[in-house]
Amino acid sequence: MNYLLEVQAEERRLLEVKNLKKYFPVKAGVLRKTVAHVKAVDGVSFHINEGETLGLVGESGCGKSTTGHTILRLLEATGGEVIFDGKDVLSLNRREMREIRKEMQIIFQDPYASLNPRMTVGEIIAEPLIIHKLVKNKEERREKVAWLLDSVGLTADHMSRFPHEFSGGQRQRIGIARALAVNPRLIIADEPVSALDVSIQAQVINLLQDLQKKFSLTYLFIAHDLSVVKHISDRIGVMYLGKIVELADKDELFNNPLHPYTKALLSAIPVPDPEHKKERIILKGDVPNPVNPPKGCPFHPRCPSAKDICKQVVPELKDYGNGHFASCHLLEE
Ligand code: SF4
Repeated sequence: MNYLLEVQAEERRLLEVKNLKKYFPVKAGVLRKTVAHVKAVDGVSFHINEGETLGLVGESGCGKSTTGHTILRLLEATGGEVIFDGKDVLSLNRREMREIRKEMQIIFQDPYASLNPRMTVGEIIAEPLIIHKLVKNKEERREKVAWLLDSVGLTADHMSRFPHEFSGGQRQRIGIARALAVNPRLIIADEPVSALDVSIQAQVINLLQDLQKKFSLTYLFIAHDLSVVKHISDRIGVMYLGKIVELADKDELFNNPLHPYTKALLSAIPVPDPEHKKERIILKGDVPNPVNPPKGCPFHPRCPSAKDICKQVVPELKDYGNGHFASCHLLEE
């Protein structure tokens, strides 16, 4: 790539995460001494271009939500870098962080727990407008809230109602409206449809796609299910025990998975056409305890292709062409 193209490609990067780490101390004894660490996020790196959706998938406890929360500094990182639009997020002071939060919003998994039950929907959506001084008076506030409700498929009549009066899907729409209130550029969608009925999931994903086009949004879309991220993502990263084990363009990942873990996840997705049915790869055992992860490749105790080297040496995440990254010793042969 020549220098100019390289600069242009760099310029499109809205978010860059480099070697991000989040370790939680494990305390024990009367003195509550730190006896170990849970490496919830252990050297995660990726970027997201402006207007793109990066899906992040993995089983529960793999560190994908912690990655999202650490990027926004809802949790403080143990190490690494988060560069948003050229700004070093992890070194910003409180005032600077408050400013940048307008541009980086989050939609939480549980629309029941993330909305204050004592506030009306109008108050919930107006709150960020007031905090960030984005409206001048009551009338302007009301107009903006009505417009936001309309944008997510609800109406101004819903403003005076309370969250418990809405269905799960509607509550998630309220959470999306609240996130949109501050005109963000990046939205971290943390399992936004996991708590919803399957019939409602597609509606919310379609809404997020429509909003992405309308407001030129960039998404980090976190889910535990590859079939959920498939529809919305441009690229997908697969996480296992705090690390990204594979990252590729969506079609490339689905058509040509390289890592045994990704292959197992893909084999679990039901295929409607029996002619294209793949043999299901059943993984042995559960995800290992992150307090005491296995030596070598963290996936080796469950991997159907594990070899001796896998028990000793951690495989590096390498680029196997066209931005298709994977970490597995088998690929190095
Ligand atoms: Fe399996 Fe070894 Fe590859 Fe890890 S490095 S995924 S254990 S083959």
